[in-house]
Amino acid sequence: MTLDLTSAPPTAIAALEAELVELLGPRGVTSELRARERASVDGSLMSPIIVEQLPLGLADLVAFPATAEQIGDVVAAAVRHGVPVTPRGKGTGNYGQGIPLAGGLVLDTSRARAVVEVGDGWITAEAGAPMVALERAAAEQGQQLWMYPSTAQSCLGGFLSGGSGGTGTIAHGSNDMGFVVALDVVHGDGSPELHHVEGAEAQRYVHNYGTAGIIARATVRLEPLQDWRGVFASFPDLPSALRALRILGRLDPLPRLVSADGPEVIAALPPDPAFPAGRASLRMIADVATVGAARVVIEGAGGQVEDVREGPQVVLAISMLSYNHPVEWLQKSAPGTYFHVEVAGEALVDRPADVAAVYEGGLLHVEAGHSVPIGMLAGVYQSPEQVRAGIAALNALGVGVHDPHQWNVDFELQRTVETARRTDPGGLLNPGKLNPEYAGPTKGSIR
Ligand SMILES: Cc1cc2nc3c(=O)[nH]c(=O)nc-3n(C[C@H](O)[C@H](O)[C@H](O)COP(=O)(O)OP(=O)(O)OC[C@H]3O[C@@H](n4cnc5c(N)ncnc54)[C@H](O)[C@@H]3O)c2cc1C
Repeated sequence: MTLDLTSAPPTAIAALEAELVELLGPRGVTSELRARERASVDGSLMSPIIVEQLPLGLADLVAFPATAEQIGDVVAAAVRHGVPVTPRGKGTGNYGQGIPLAGGLVLDTSRARAVVEVGDGWITAEAGAPMVALERAAAEQGQQLWMYPSTAQSCLGGFLSGGSGGTGTIAHGSNDMGFVVALDVVHGDGSPELHHVEGAEAQRYVHNYGTAGIIARATVRLEPLQDWRGVFASFPDLPSALRALRILGRLDPLPRLVSADGPEVIAALPPDPAFPAGRASLRMIADVATVGAARVVIEGAGGQVEDVREGPQVVLAISMLSYNHPVEWLQKSAPGTYFHVEVAGEALVDRPADVAAVYEGGLLHVEAGHSVPIGMLAGVYQSPEQVRAGIAALNALGVGVHDPHQWNVDFELQRTVETARRTDPGGLLNPGKLNPEYAGPTKGSIR
């Protein structure tokens, strides 16, 4: 499918390439086809609806700035040449937000990855710093990130622009709820200046795919390091695991993560002695002080503790089986079968069978959320119409739905449109994602 977006003429691409070679050296920019193809897909391979539409765009050039300042220089050069710029971190965003719909330049931030400074309660890093590197740097100073996504190898800029939450969300909500202290952003006005923004002004650049400005450097919140344990429990079925999840998600101190899946999803995960066949599973990152209380809750709900493990690798391993990951494993186990939608609401715990029954072959993955349970509902894919009809049926059950099969900015849309009018007058920042007419389900509907 070709979208009706204007790409830059070959002369402009050639002139930009020459300028970028001057700026970054020959290894800092490429027009080689394989690199351009790799930079033109993202985690939206999880969506059969988006996959059916591929290729949606192909980068003409890929640039690899190695510092925040070089990110500013590259964006400025592209804008001066009239070339669209699509920023990229690790490319795991799963709505196609990272696909260069108008071609042009993909600005890969993964080499601009310095952790700049760790302070008391905050950490500053360049956009391409992996979240795991931030967590490690924080731990060296006796601190931990407020939150990181289950794709823990993904980048700070990508998480702030394309993600929303993960490990730590139970306590702190999503990444637009105070996680960001300050940003240094580049506008699409032809200037390489890094604009330093804080507080409400910084929020204007969160979760809108770089359409209002490209994040070159960010400062996000830390908290004192806690002593975590990985608690693995099994239950006869998903409803009993969910009864426990609801109580465990309110322990004091709060857990960092509580995830639950039924036996069908567990069968698709990498085998682990803590996942007995035919049983539902609950994984939890618990403060050491609450492990005894967690055991009481688990046993009270008819479950049993399979293992309690310790160490940073365990925390990471449990994180990497949360949020979209069980769905991804399910898809690997039966290629071409499953799609999913992001869901939230008390109904996930109160009426899991009704929620799952909305889609044929429905399977529910649930996380303890900040205000309500959140999760992923997978089903056997038939058509875009089937997915949409299911969203309406879920809403009727009181379930909030976010649609992960479309790439339009769907969070604070009007605020972003107003900001981008000022910061991106030529509409060159990630074109095709900021549609003022977008009227589908919003990210707000699953908070
Ligand atoms: C299996 C799986 C599990 C996932 N689990 C989670 C989860 O737990 N929580 C969650 O929030 N998300 C999750 N995601 C989505 C995604 O992995 C995360 O949001 C991730 O943090 C995105 O980071 P990235 O570096 O891969 O960003 P990318 O995919 O490279 O980019 C994401 C978006 O941000 C834009 N962007 C990238 N860098 C910048 C920048 N410097 N400035 C401005 N815009 C920029 C891109 O153009 C794109 O629109 C999951 C995805 C998959 C496939």
